[in-house]
Amino acid sequence: MARLINPPGKWNGRTVALDDGHGMETPGKRTPYIQEIGRQIKENEFNRKVVQYLSNILLDHGFRVLLVAPTDEDTPLSYRTRAANQNNADIYVSVHYNAFDGSFGGADPNGIELYVYPGYLNRPAGRLASSLAKYLRQGTDQNFRGIKEANFHVLRETDMPAVLTENGYMDNKREALLMIDERFQKEVAEEHARGILEYFGVPFKRGIDYLSLGDTGAEVKEMQENLLKLGYTMNGYGADGSFGPATEAAVKAFQKDNNLEVDGFYGPKTKAAVQIALDNLNKGEEEMEKLAVVINSFADFPAVEALVIRKNALIALRAVAEKRQVAEQIIVAGGGTDGLKGSNFIDLTGKTRYETSQNIKDYLAK
Ligand SMILES: [Zn+2]
Repeated sequence: MARLINPPGKWNGRTVALDDGHGMETPGKRTPYIQEIGRQIKENEFNRKVVQYLSNILLDHGFRVLLVAPTDEDTPLSYRTRAANQNNADIYVSVHYNAFDGSFGGADPNGIELYVYPGYLNRPAGRLASSLAKYLRQGTDQNFRGIKEANFHVLRETDMPAVLTENGYMDNKREALLMIDERFQKEVAEEHARGILEYFGVPFKRGIDYLSLGDTGAEVKEMQENLLKLGYTMNGYGADGSFGPATEAAVKAFQKDNNLEVDGFYGPKTKAAVQIALDNLNKGEEEMEKLAVVINSFADFPAVEALVIRKNALIALRAVAEKRQVAEQIIVAGGGTDGLKGSNFIDLTGKTRYETSQNIKDYLAK
């Protein structure tokens, strides 16, 4: 059963059909046994992840995504292409990993290649393949084997421009191990996304390491918990793991407060800023003194010296105490509490310096 997914925001009018190649258990579609990890890697472990990441990026850019084989079953090729044709997909992209002789020894080829139907190099499919190749050649260093022609079913039976990508060799050990490297999977997904966006003339906004409206799951929940710790309350929804409008508003508020671009996307920059804010918060809690005595200048120190020693208090200048809360409880010895950061004050300020020192003596006598 193919699955058509609508973007969380406005649809841009384009539908991309994505094909993850094979079923999970399709015979032969796996690496040789890999000593280092004690097993074989199935081709679909890679293809499926790339399609999943890729579809998220496309959805975030307003595309509709048609997953022509969303299950682990070995969906027949005729079914895949029929689903794309019936849903009027604008393009068809099939993600694969190559195989040569099923052994890590021998000729041991490596690298990426792309396929279009014979004679289509100068047609839209060829243009799509060129856009994809431009980005697939970036990132992790791999041999580029070129854009080739082949009479594959998914290239022949599709009514729309179709490209099949081979993103490495299962029987080259280095590239085999890349298949289960999450960073590589995300990189390949983002490269596909950039190629597809360029083909349609849609500007690239963000890759897979972004959370935005419509996302759900553990990463969203963690982000929400962090925002809550920092005082962004999300209209009381709490950390529910669902990136809704209240969460977006909280992200935007945080971005505004931290001089970031206010776009509501939780990307690498915003994430880093949240981490810094949390570190500062934790530092603040650890270092927060129990008690401080605030004075206007060090000329006032003799008047409060006994107080500071007896109460084991920190001494702080008013100018500092106006910028940040210097302790949980603050004794004010002159000048009153106006403008000081904090909520728990003991104000010993008198009308005169003499009265203040008298108040301090009375306080210590209690
Ligand atoms: Zn394949």
